[in-house]
Amino acid sequence: MKKTDHFGQPARDDVLARKLRSRSAELEPQLIAWRRHLHSIPELAFQERETAAFIASTLSEIGCYEVREHIGGTGVVADLQVGVGPRILLRADMDALPIMETGTDVWASRNEGVMHACGHDGHVAMLLGAARLLADLVKEGHDGINVRLLFQPAEEAAGSDGVTGALRTIHDGVLAGVDGALALHVEPAQELGVIRLGSGYVMASVDTFTGVIRGVGGHAARPEETVDPFWLLAPVLSAIQGIVARRISPLDSAVVSLCHVVGGEVDNVIPGEVTLEGTMRSFKPEVRERLYFELEAAFALARSLGGEVDLDIRAESPPLYNDEGARARLLNSIKCLKIGSQILDGPYGLMGEDFAEFAARVPSVMVMLGCAPEGGACRLHSPQFEIDERVLERGASLLALGSLTMGRF
Ligand SMILES: [Zn+2]
Ligand SMILES: [Zn+2]
Repeated sequence: MKKTDHFGQPARDDVLARKLRSRSAELEPQLIAWRRHLHSIPELAFQERETAAFIASTLSEIGCYEVREHIGGTGVVADLQVGVGPRILLRADMDALPIMETGTDVWASRNEGVMHACGHDGHVAMLLGAARLLADLVKEGHDGINVRLLFQPAEEAAGSDGVTGALRTIHDGVLAGVDGALALHVEPAQELGVIRLGSGYVMASVDTFTGVIRGVGGHAARPEETVDPFWLLAPVLSAIQGIVARRISPLDSAVVSLCHVVGGEVDNVIPGEVTLEGTMRSFKPEVRERLYFELEAAFALARSLGGEVDLDIRAESPPLYNDEGARARLLNSIKCLKIGSQILDGPYGLMGEDFAEFAARVPSVMVMLGCAPEGGACRLHSPQFEIDERVLERGASLLALGSLTMGRF
């Protein structure tokens, strides 16, 4: 038995879990109303002003919280502390995507070309629900609550400086005095009740790159007078595609994807250069380092044929690491709340998630909640994105209980 587990704790967790789950279920109509309102007013990264104002006014109606706005741009932070104990940060992202919604619900997007297609409207509604559940506990005299709610801007996009919302809020001091962090993400590809809770690396580091291969342009009929950048490109492409297959252990995970290749203007001129853009993903730091090295080596092949190369690799976000202890305590909370019919271990994929910035600084955990709508599973970032709204009361109770149990180091 760990020294922090003392006799009687599991029984108290069960009682608290039952209370929070039943109250969260009572709150369900409110959670759905919040989510639908937020869904109707989606705002892109760095522009979440109406969303932030709605959050701040809802928090002031709930009461109990010390609310600060304009954190990391448009972010909202709310603190609640009663008694002593570790402070847990609960984070919900609040930005939408440049996608045209195809749904026709009355709560469909009113902002043309902008849509909550990643479920961040649901994340905000769940965190407001958790705020309400925790405030009610405080009003009843429950102590040992020390929580910081973060409604974070700009998870989906970086500014011109390459920085997304998480790091901006950190620069504004959101992690001061914080001992751990918890976040959830909806997952409409999985059934309601299917929960993914991995340990260790669960999402990837994100690096982007721009490589320019320079040759000498000229007449298409006189290639011998040129240094054709497409000819230089051929071995580079082949080497890039071989990095993961031949240079990374099959036991490790990595991706190198070329996503944008531009060169030339017309059909009878060999251009002077070709530009490549892409992204690299991995879990482990040593694999990430190897990707950097191998990408440099791949581009260097163009030099051996007489070309020049400029390669710029930009580190965007670290890998997301779920702390083992925090994960174990959250797993227990999930079981006490009875919100999961199936709990899956293992990584979530090689997508990036800027919650990783918090996880790189304090013990953290991120969990994925299945929420496939009745019409069948759908994908994140698609114009048909929809959720089963029954996930909202489950997520709100999990955030509330998680904030109380996660800090038992
Ligand atoms: Zn997204
Ligand atoms: Zn998202």
